[in-house]
Amino acid sequence: MSNLNFARSAADIKRYRQRNSLRPIFRNYALKLLAHLVKSDSKPRLLFLSFHFTFESDRENLRNIMTFLAKDFEFISYSEAVQKWKNKEIDKNYICFSSDDGFENYQIAAEVMKEFGATGIVFICPSMIGESNKEKLAKFNANRLNGPSMPFLNWDQIENLASEGHEFGNHTFSHFNQAEISKKSAEEEIAKTHEIIEERLGYCHHFAWPYGKPNRIRRDTIDFVYNLGYKSAASTVRGYYTKEGPFDQNYILRNNFEPFWPLSHIKYFTKTNRYQ
Ligand SMILES: [Zn+2]
Repeated sequence: MSNLNFARSAADIKRYRQRNSLRPIFRNYALKLLAHLVKSDSKPRLLFLSFHFTFESDRENLRNIMTFLAKDFEFISYSEAVQKWKNKEIDKNYICFSSDDGFENYQIAAEVMKEFGATGIVFICPSMIGESNKEKLAKFNANRLNGPSMPFLNWDQIENLASEGHEFGNHTFSHFNQAEISKKSAEEEIAKTHEIIEERLGYCHHFAWPYGKPNRIRRDTIDFVYNLGYKSAASTVRGYYTKEGPFDQNYILRNNFEPFWPLSHIKYFTKTNRYQ
């Protein structure tokens, strides 16, 4: 049986995920070194950032990250960023924020973002919105998100964030790997989520698929999303956009970071596209 207690810090997440892996430790050192070595891309660029969770203890670190980003980038909403991506209109440095899974602690990130005049989009799974059953929460977090248990936003919190300018998008109903379920189930997961969000908030324009890699979704499921009238589908493939592109994919490239990460990691991801 999984641990029913909620994670309270980034250390709890790290402990959960590093039980069997040394990779994050090596990655940490590699990125610290690379951040010093690479030269910054001088072309105006548009970046989509994504993150998952923000704990109280990460507030100050997130402030430092935002202070660093504010020096180089204009913060814009996700919808504005999608518009610029569509129009290939990248005349200066822009950055926007997105958060997958809809954890309750997004509210902490939102408070910090507010200090900088920024907002974000949260990609939510309606099957977990406002769920209070601790066993269900632990199971979903372990099976679907590979993490320790954490609570999700409820509708009151979502509506409150929406009134503050945050947007909400479709992350499927149950967070399955879209390539492993049938085409029909994938479409039902997306359509059901669309209806629920649209009914509660009056809109739903953006989609991000679970696990974010191109092999976790069928191409025709992405087409299905656009046929529903969506303005964007987002991956977690790293990269950013300049006037020259890359515009050869119909999905958005996003750079994952977490608010507890050292600033050197963020510096690396925002100044070069070399990891593509
Ligand atoms: Zn997710």
